[in-house]
Amino acid sequence: MKIKQLVDLKFDNRFINELPADQETINNRRQVFKACYSLVHPTKVSKPQLVAYSKEVATLLDLDTNTCESDEFTQTFVGNQLLADMVPYATCYGGHQFGHWAGQLGDGRAINLGEILNQQNQRWALQLKGAGPTPYSRTADGLAVLRSSVREFLCSEAMHHLGVPTTRALSLISTGEYVIRDMFYNGNPKAEPGAVVCRVAPSFTRFGHFQILAARGELDLLKKLINYTITTDFPHLGKPAPETYIAWFTEVCRTTAEMIVHWQRVGFVHGVMNTDNMSILGLTIDYGPYGWLENYDPGWTPNTTDAEQKRYRFGHQPQIAFWNLGQLANAIYPLIKKEQPLQDAMDSYSITFEKGWQTMMANKLGLHKFNPSTDDDLCAELLVILQLVETDMTLFYRQLAKIDCSQGLNDTQLESALHTLATIYYVPEQITSNYQERLKQWLKMYGQRIQSDQRSHTERFNQMNTVNPLYVLRNYLAQLAIDKAEQGDYSGVHELLDVLRHPYTEQDGKDPFSAKRPDWARQRAGCSMLSCSS
Ligand code: AMP
Ligand code: MG
Repeated sequence: MKIKQLVDLKFDNRFINELPADQETINNRRQVFKACYSLVHPTKVSKPQLVAYSKEVATLLDLDTNTCESDEFTQTFVGNQLLADMVPYATCYGGHQFGHWAGQLGDGRAINLGEILNQQNQRWALQLKGAGPTPYSRTADGLAVLRSSVREFLCSEAMHHLGVPTTRALSLISTGEYVIRDMFYNGNPKAEPGAVVCRVAPSFTRFGHFQILAARGELDLLKKLINYTITTDFPHLGKPAPETYIAWFTEVCRTTAEMIVHWQRVGFVHGVMNTDNMSILGLTIDYGPYGWLENYDPGWTPNTTDAEQKRYRFGHQPQIAFWNLGQLANAIYPLIKKEQPLQDAMDSYSITFEKGWQTMMANKLGLHKFNPSTDDDLCAELLVILQLVETDMTLFYRQLAKIDCSQGLNDTQLESALHTLATIYYVPEQITSNYQERLKQWLKMYGQRIQSDQRSHTERFNQMNTVNPLYVLRNYLAQLAIDKAEQGDYSGVHELLDVLRHPYTEQDGKDPFSAKRPDWARQRAGCSMLSCSS
């Protein structure tokens, strides 16, 4: 494979070549009608510095280490200079925020640089986040701070390595500029270091791109966008037509369901599942006030902006995705004019999710196959037990894998199983004898269930450890890396990026990265509480 220099990147900017542009070219904030995007240049910054890059994403773009470590790379992916075929633009979309229609939102702090075709002819769109204002910035500045950029960069790559569909991150570059943020919107603004992340995905199209056109009654353009999307991102569906629109929506329902199953598997809480933050490719997109479950609590959300309603709490994500799909269905209804097929597709979301969830739970528990007659109860009781006392979700499944239940569990083995699980609790005082009794009952039932599968301990152990990660981007780990990065020391970012490359494999000397949340992090900003201010 030939390694490319930046100048050799082959651009094929379909989105802007095939869809209509905003006629206005001045960069002021406005409502943009009858257009899918506005041309806009990134804002230049004074002292860009490469904080980190992802070698895996670089490889997708046929770029090597030397190129990524060059000054030209930093200048390009901070937005200071454009390659010859780059035509930067921001796209127009709307969305429902926290359940309410919000009208036009758009790429307020994202600027697309173009789409490249790599040597395998794969299409990758490049997008800078935090590179300055666009016509869609509304009252905000178009910038991003280092802390939130570290979080987006690391989490994109961590999710990929976990096997969760996601947009990717090529680079994280500090700008040398300061950005004012009031982290908790409580009258305490602070100057924070700014940064730009270059995100990479086959397409950044969101539910909201369709919604804004439908809301405005721009049905010709809505049709154009859906035809474009099918031809470019879903060519396997065939020629665009009303039946293809239904096949397309059905596929969006399926990939969205699959994505949510993955989130529930690894304990990821997105935090802001507004319809503008939903990718039509079923990719996790827009890493803002997301978080990772530490103690298993379906009611938890890291987003303080959502503290009252907790609309986007962990346990509610499957229903929210369904609701969001309903909004997309409403948006494309005028092109289909039949309710039933859209309803059928929505139903297929529920079926895909349910089946996916069962398979996921079977894998997490090391069962050969999910058998509803026994395993519905097994899972239901487990999910109650995990909440009785503060139990680290990630470590629970890793410790459970270590317990050999291939012959069931006798009384002595049950005692030893409790011992194996003793390390995963946050508040040891919560472990009462009642709790232990209930856990033992469950383990006994579980042991019998495993025994009935007649598989070796090793086989089950290996299966469980390929779906239950040991290393996830724990909220406090990201914050420790951010604290260092804000002092100009990027080693924490590099080390986390490295460990999270192999989330399922125990790595020598990396115990601190799988440790449960320390007590100091329980109430610290950035560790358990985040806001949309980023
Ligand atoms: P989010 O909640 O991050 O998904 O953002 C919702 C909308 O606000 C999107 O249109 C974003 O582009 C926009 N937005 C968020 N932060 C900023 C910012 N600092 N400057 C401009 N637009 C922003
Ligand atoms: Mg967003």
